[in-house]
Parts: sequence; structure tokens; C-alpha cells
Amino acid sequence: MTATTQASAQSDLVIAGLDRLVATSGSAGVSTIIKPFDGTVLGELPKSSVADVEAAFTRARAAQQHWVRTPMRTRTRVLTQFTDLVLKHDSELLDLIQLETGKSRHSAFEEIADIVLWTSHLAQRGPAVLAERRHRGALPLLTQTREVRVPKGVVGVITPWNYPLTLPVTDSLPALLAGNGVVCKPDSQTPFCALRVLDLLLQAGLPRDLLQVVVGSGREIGSAVINRADYIMFTGSTATGRTIATQCAQRLIGFSGELGGKNPLLVLADADIERAAAGALHACFSNSGQLCIATERIYVHQAVWDEFKAAFLDRVAEMQLAAGLGWDADMGSLISQSQLEAVTEHVADARAKGVTVLAGGRPRPDLGPYFFEPTVLTDVTPGMKAYREETFGPVVSLYRVASDDKAVELANDTDYGLNAAVWSRRNGERVARQLQAGTVNINEGYAATWGSFRAPMGGMKQSGLGRRHGAEGVLKYTEAQTIARQRVVRIGGFEQVANRRWATLMSAGIRVLRHFM
Ligand code: NAD
Repeated sequence: MTATTQASAQSDLVIAGLDRLVATSGSAGVSTIIKPFDGTVLGELPKSSVADVEAAFTRARAAQQHWVRTPMRTRTRVLTQFTDLVLKHDSELLDLIQLETGKSRHSAFEEIADIVLWTSHLAQRGPAVLAERRHRGALPLLTQTREVRVPKGVVGVITPWNYPLTLPVTDSLPALLAGNGVVCKPDSQTPFCALRVLDLLLQAGLPRDLLQVVVGSGREIGSAVINRADYIMFTGSTATGRTIATQCAQRLIGFSGELGGKNPLLVLADADIERAAAGALHACFSNSGQLCIATERIYVHQAVWDEFKAAFLDRVAEMQLAAGLGWDADMGSLISQSQLEAVTEHVADARAKGVTVLAGGRPRPDLGPYFFEPTVLTDVTPGMKAYREETFGPVVSLYRVASDDKAVELANDTDYGLNAAVWSRRNGERVARQLQAGTVNINEGYAATWGSFRAPMGGMKQSGLGRRHGAEGVLKYTEAQTIARQRVVRIGGFEQVANRRWATLMSAGIRVLRHFM
């Protein structure tokens, strides 16, 4: 792999003035945001205190009272205008994502694409999903029954640093469309992106105060958000998700958690090897592997092991690493010193236990303080951290397997169940159904399922609770309320007929009704 030159200068980056959008009284100190490309300061923001979080909920609650009465077409217009603004400012937004995270421009572009396509989908399909529904009533013709979707109130949205532009907005918009207010707590390493989307949403016509952004760490203000929210949408690690779910359970509020993964990719004997190698490269090293649905384990059928290994390693060797705002880099930096240490630790642990390093395996301080090479391991054994724990970096393990059944068995031998991929010409569908993962891609790494917005996305086992996307990803922000109007004949009532006659009538009634349920 080679390093390309430092790319273009910053374009018109809009971070000045975003501090005005933080929900803060200014009493909680300052958060310093670092540019991972070179470790220098991108900017500072005032932090939010616990009292500021409380005030943010109060403002969002007041704004929600008006918003819930706002017609659906006005709400969808905000979404459409927001999409236009994202496209208008795409270059500046790409710069901001890259400067805040250190990712390549290609990986940053996936965030823009995700926002534009999901928001457009939501504006077009969301109203039908949220629409009132008629149901067959208790007594046909005599009971008129409707299901109404009532917003939860104010939703807390807690997001990580790895997709800092798209996750705050794509998790907030379905809640807003359903009539809720939102208090969003982005990761404290990447708050500028969340504030910039709030800025654009306000320009698109979102009522002031309806969406609040609070700035601070989970330790400082996480509980303050959870203790005041009517529902929590959390994206982050499984460990934090478990803590937050416990707090939500104490308050008996709903919780949706999109958590970690240790995602397998299977290359079956009948796979198109060149395409599989190219797809696996993207699945493993997109966003430097700091992607919840990235591949960290590849199981290759022994019949194609040599061919796949050679094709994959050739491609890894050609990858371009660079710190900069140009399009030439395939992979950028990790986000922070602690991410670099976590990735380095997984590789060092594997080395100490006898792993074979087929490619990479080292930090690249010559490119930037947190760069790490795309790394391919083999001979990974169950005692190594890289075998079972999520690395969340550019490290993948290759395993040679004797059969499809063995590949499935090993792929499922994990506590996680987020995403999986199968490369095969004929057997992909059969094998996909045996994998314990919320999304399974055939002849693609992750984008096929992620981009299928009409279908739900989320994790099985320890990878999550609930789903984003699909109808579930919208309806979770509502309470179902059933309203039934009874006409002519009442269903219950002691005074109408004697109990024995009532029982005879009901008995005859249910014998007929059971054929029409
Ligand atoms: P993290 O759990 O450390 O932090 C995520 C967010 O939670 C941050 O905003 C953080 O400030 C906040 N937080 C931390 N402790 C908290 C607490 N006690 N109360 C309230 N909030 C708290 O995760 P991370 O390291 O920032 O992100 C990486 C993890 O996220 C990986 O495991 C990755 O797989 C996962 N992830 C999952 C998805 C998905 O869709 N399944 C998407 C992106 C990332």
C-alpha cells in the first residue's frame, strides 16, 4: 500500500457560529474537537450541563405540542427542503465529515448518500406508514375500529462518532416525522457534524427548539438524557447499550439499540472470486473498518482458498492511504489515539499468540498520528482477541474451511448477529437463511441491505434490539392507540339480558365469528 500526497485545502467549512446551536448556558466548560488527520484542533464548543439537558427537554416538549398538530405535508416539506440543502452543500459537508473523523472522502460520501436517500424515502413513504388504519371490529359492521399512531413525546437520540453526519439526522428524522421532539447527544468527538445538520434543518423550516443538540460525554450527560426521554434510540457499543437499556427498563420506556458486530463474510466454492475479493475489500476497509457492519472474519472454501487469498492480498497491497480532502485515498485515519491503541492491541495480542500477518499490521505515523495499515491475518485461534471481540478497525481474519456447513457453523459461533455476507453464484440464498444475522448480503458486503430502506435493519443476539429502516424504524417512535366506536348493539352489559341468555347468544355468536377473524 502506498501513501498519496496531502490533498486539497479546506473549502468553505461552516463551523463558525455553530456554537450558538448547542443547548447550553455556557457554564459546563468547553469541549475541544481534534482533527484526526494531523491531531490539531478543529474547534471548540461549549458543553451542556445536566441542567442544560433538562432545559433542552423542556424546550423540545413545548415545541412538540405545536408540531404534533402540524399537517403531515408540512412535515414532509421540511424533509424535502433539507435534502435539497444537503445536496447543495455536499462538498462542504464532505470536508466537515473528513476533518472531524479522518475518514476518506469516499467513506464520507456514503454518509451524504445515506442521508439523501433515506430522507427522500421517508418523505415519500413515511406518511403512509404513519397513517391511521381501519381494522375489522369486534362485531362486523357494528364496531368501527381504527388504529392511530401517537408520537412518544420527546425522543433521546444518542449517536457514536463513526458516522457523525448521518446517524444523528437519520435516526432523528423518523421520530420528527412521527410528531415527536428530539434531544440528540452526538459523541463528544464529533459534535460539529450534528450541529451542522441541525443548522440545515432549521434552514429547511424545522421549528426552532423541536430538535435540541446537547454536547458532552456519556458519563457527563448520558443519564440526564435517558432520565428525561420518552424513548431512547441508541447507536453504539454493546456494552454501553446494555447499560442504557437497563436504565430505560427502570423507567419503563422503550429502547432501540443498534450495537456492535463481528461480521462474517463467506466465500463459497462457486463464488466469482475476482468480484468477491473486490467486494470483501470494501466490506473490510470502508471507513478504516470503523463501521458496525464491516467484515472482520472471512471464511473461504478450501476449493477457492488460494485463488481468493491471492486476489484479496493483491488488492490490499494496492490500497492508497492518505490524510487529506481529495478523492484519491482508499482509506483514511482512525479517529483517535484510543482507537489506534485498541486496534494495535488486537494485532499485538494475535502476534504474541502465533498469528500469521499476511498484510499490514502496523501504525503509520508518517501519514498521521492515528493511521493504521489495512491488515489481513490468518491462523487466528480462539484464544486471540481478534477471534471473537469486535476490533472496529482495519483488521480482518481469513479462515480456510472444508465445507459450506463448516463456514456457517463458524460464522454463527459469535455472540453478535449484526451483518453477514455470502459470495456464491448458486447457493447464496440457501446459506443466507442459515446465518444468524439481522442483515445478510449476497454478493455484496453491506450496502445491499443497508440501502434497502423499505426493509428493516438491525441486529440479532448481542447486536441490538429493535430495527431502523422499514416500517418498524418509523413506528417505533409512536404508541399504537386503538379507538373503537360501537353502534346499535352493545357487546357487554349485564342489564340487557339475563346472564344465561347472554351466554347462549355469545356462544352462538363466537361460533359464527371465528370464521371471519
Ligand atoms: P459508545 O457506546 O462508546 O458510545 C456511543 C454513544 O454513547 C456516544 O455518544 C457516547 O457519548 C454515548 N455514551 C457512552 N456511555 C454512555 C452512557 N453511560 N449513557 C449514555 N450515553 C453514553 O460507542 P462508540 O465506541 O462511540 O462507537 C462504536 C460502537 O458503535 C461499535 O461497537 C460499533 O459497532 C457500534 N455501532 C453500531 C451501529 C449499528 O447500526 N449497529 C452503527 C455505528 C456504530
